[in-house]
Amino acid sequence: MVVFLGNEFNLSANENYKLAVETAVNAAEKSDFKIFLIGGVVRDLILENKIKDIDIAVEGNAVDFSVILERDYNCKIINIQEKLKTAKVQFSNGSIIDFASTREEKYINSGVLPQGYNFGCSLENDVKRRDFTINTLALKLTGDNKFSLIDYCGGYQDILNKKIRILHDKSFIDDPSRIIRALKFKVRFNFELEQNTENLMKEYLNNINDKMPLERIKNELHQYFNIKKENLYDLIISTKAYKLISDKPILNFKEERLFSLKEFDLFNENEIWFIYITALIVNSDYAIKRLNITSSERKVITEVRELLNKDAKVKDNFQIYKMFNKLNNLSIASYYVISGNPAVIKFLKALKDIEVLITGDDLKEIGFIPSPYFNKLFESILKEKLNGKLNSKEEEINFVKKFLKKD
Ligand code: ATP
Repeated sequence: MVVFLGNEFNLSANENYKLAVETAVNAAEKSDFKIFLIGGVVRDLILENKIKDIDIAVEGNAVDFSVILERDYNCKIINIQEKLKTAKVQFSNGSIIDFASTREEKYINSGVLPQGYNFGCSLENDVKRRDFTINTLALKLTGDNKFSLIDYCGGYQDILNKKIRILHDKSFIDDPSRIIRALKFKVRFNFELEQNTENLMKEYLNNINDKMPLERIKNELHQYFNIKKENLYDLIISTKAYKLISDKPILNFKEERLFSLKEFDLFNENEIWFIYITALIVNSDYAIKRLNITSSERKVITEVRELLNKDAKVKDNFQIYKMFNKLNNLSIASYYVISGNPAVIKFLKALKDIEVLITGDDLKEIGFIPSPYFNKLFESILKEKLNGKLNSKEEEINFVKKFLKKD
């Protein structure tokens, strides 16, 4: 049975994408290239999801094809990766499509990016390098039967049955980041891991090799923790997928605490993923060393570590203020999600915005001689204010005047 997905494409793709694909098809047919919609886009069409981005496989050299698009079809090549022979092309209406030459891949070392070879191979050989059957589907764009489905690995049936299935038994050994990808698709689409896939995943995680590099894992975790669903962290713990990066994940991470912080505007949507990552790696030097974290990410980790090492039962408002006042919002949020310390909420609700209104100039005007003692005065004012006193600049002035008399 031939499945056609032309209607689905017309419904899901926006007008700009449709025009861009039409242009690419014209160009390919004129220059004798065979091109295919490939991977996630085809999966998403079958699932009737909106199309986010479009990948096209070129049975031939995608870089040569992109040069034709730029030369004759008013397109702009934004990026070329010579090594993989891929090209990112912007069409005149602004839409962007990734073109990849078909290729095979071989893994020299487990977990390290594979080597591409045999560029321009048949589509059938290209799809064998992919992660799951649901991502191996292609739609024919050139020649007869446009928008017919090409399914070499049984991906169509797996989508209908909601199954995530690897293509061969060594798949997770070749690339363990596929474990996070599997969980991503499971959560995102409400799919299940096919039995053998699940068994091999467990086997891999039970025999995990410490030395395995993490080239792709961080990016996959980023995408995974960006899914707007619940229980993301719990699944990483319960499946033991955390073992890919960390030997000591926080176990009492509470997602509901994370959601309860939304009202305080501490972070934007794009930062949430790192709160989860912090909980996975904060107690694990082993993880921090291996995960290739940036300097600002390291700062968050260090701050959360220090908070976790402090006495959680801080007593008064001043101590609470001192504990959090200079810290990164993301550190405060991560610490709260991990610890549940109510001091955080007190800080955010009642203390965070309190500040001393008088300045050094005001102190001089009152008659104080500039000295390190100024800091003590400011601190005394702050302490009072944190306890609900001194509600105006005037009250602050009257308060410090008492110290002047004593001098
Ligand atoms: P998303 O909707 O999350 O973007 P996607 O399937 O489009 O999903 P990409 O990360 O953009 O995912 O990858 C594009 C395609 O490349 C996938 O559909 C898959 O066929 C292949 N791919 C991606 N990562 C891997 C991997 N680690 N191993 C094998 N194939 C992969």
